[in-house]
Amino acid sequence: MAANQFDLVVLGAGPGGYVAAIKAAQLGLNVACVEREPALGGTCLRVGCIPSKVLLESSEKFAEARHDFARHGIKLGAVELDLPAMLRRKDAVVAALTKGVEGLFKKNRVTRYTGHGRLAGPGRVIVEGQDSTVELAAKHILIATGSKPAPLPGVAVDGDRIGMSTEALSYPEVPGHLVVIGAGYIGLELGAVWSRLGAKVTVLEFLPRILPGMDSEIAAEAQKIFTRQGLEFRLGTRVTAARAGQHGCRVEIEGTEAVECDRVLLAVGRVPYTENLGLDTVGITPDETGRIPVDDHFATSAPGVYAIGDVIRGPMLAHKAEEEGIACVERLVTGHGHVDYDTIPGVCYTHPEIASVGRTEDQLQKEEVRFRKGVFPFLASGRAKTLGQTEGRVKVLADADTDRVLGVHILGPRAGDLIAEAAAAMAFGASSEDIARVCHAHPTLSEALKEAALAVTGPAIHL
Ligand SMILES: Cc1cc2nc3c(=O)[nH]c(=O)nc-3n(C[C@H](O)[C@H](O)[C@H](O)COP(=O)(O)OP(=O)(O)OC[C@H]3O[C@@H](n4cnc5c(N)ncnc54)[C@H](O)[C@@H]3O)c2cc1C
Repeated sequence: MAANQFDLVVLGAGPGGYVAAIKAAQLGLNVACVEREPALGGTCLRVGCIPSKVLLESSEKFAEARHDFARHGIKLGAVELDLPAMLRRKDAVVAALTKGVEGLFKKNRVTRYTGHGRLAGPGRVIVEGQDSTVELAAKHILIATGSKPAPLPGVAVDGDRIGMSTEALSYPEVPGHLVVIGAGYIGLELGAVWSRLGAKVTVLEFLPRILPGMDSEIAAEAQKIFTRQGLEFRLGTRVTAARAGQHGCRVEIEGTEAVECDRVLLAVGRVPYTENLGLDTVGITPDETGRIPVDDHFATSAPGVYAIGDVIRGPMLAHKAEEEGIACVERLVTGHGHVDYDTIPGVCYTHPEIASVGRTEDQLQKEEVRFRKGVFPFLASGRAKTLGQTEGRVKVLADADTDRVLGVHILGPRAGDLIAEAAAAMAFGASSEDIARVCHAHPTLSEALKEAALAVTGPAIHL
């Protein structure tokens, strides 16, 4: 095979692209992965999941030390914030993980090209690097170019005072007053970070609720907790403009007074990224939302061209992109590959965390599915008491006739880890009785899921 000829060329090295590239190489394909950025890992590792979780952890420790340690009988002197050190730790974690992907590419013999990749007709990819341009010949091409933050008309993003999530991961000082536009998980997580570090945070949301898509009962309870923690919510609020001036920013709101603040974080969603990708050279037309249309096996309308991750339909989540990458290349090599979209968990890493898998109560009601509901509050969990983290609850929703679990929603400590058991059970088609009959270690937070499962068909033991 000529040097620039590959079985598979992957465009983009985010969770979708890099995982697909590694898996394809493990299945015996000769694989290249093209990435514009010097660091591998995509949005998730560079400016998404990982840096946000680092700051959430550090800011949580800071808030605990200031407000919570005394309750445990631990007296500290003055607790001080060293923001540059906190940001350096975040950068170090990101650097270690992106380097790790580089190592995995080497280990699995994935050839990496640094530059902007674009399609140039069937089986052809052109990579424009800093100093040179190369052409690759590919039997199969996988588009995994991801997404970018959505703009909002009237909001003049300057990449400094008025920015997106990437800027909010690196503010050089704690803002006096931060306005977050959008109460989705990115706005809430980053709002929580700066609020814990001392900022006044106001969250403006167009909808009458936070966390659209999550179970509304759980979201309402979370909103009460976040309000107690100091976040100010203004729901049903339409932002019409935002501008940075010399002494701060001004956010205009429909029908009421403008808000003055130091910084604005625009977090109203993300849109697929397909700029200068040469889609027209193979006859692919994005849909009205900008996403690349694909069939059940990730094939686009162009023969030999596939797409996965944020650039196609479905939730914009790292693990969703990964699963699609695996399923897509497995099908290429073995003829089989499948993603179970009914059991993809979603997690918001605030404190407490919010995690969800399957259908919400709102969806089941709308679809007129007869269901039963079991709820267990962390207030009644021995482990939660020992941690001093008793806010929230577990909610299990099961089919009223078959008892099959249709959805699990958790607001509480480490909900993101707890949801894995629910996802596994649902992937195996479990009933609530199946979960309730599994022996859970005591005392653990996982017992709350067992008790909520018990509560679906009868009384829980500890309530
Ligand atoms: C602040 C924030 C926090 C998040 N937290 C979480 C979380 O906790 N959990 C979670 O599951 N998800 C989270 N996400 C979402 C997650 O980052 C995305 O769902 C995930 O990165 C999508 O993976 P992907 O591979 O489709 O695309 P991306 O990760 O966006 O990767 C695409 C890559 O392609 C490259 N690229 C694009 N076009 C080209 C081209 N033409 N040539 C070469 N390279 C190109 C880009 O540079 C990029 O590196 C978060 C996102 C943000 C912004």
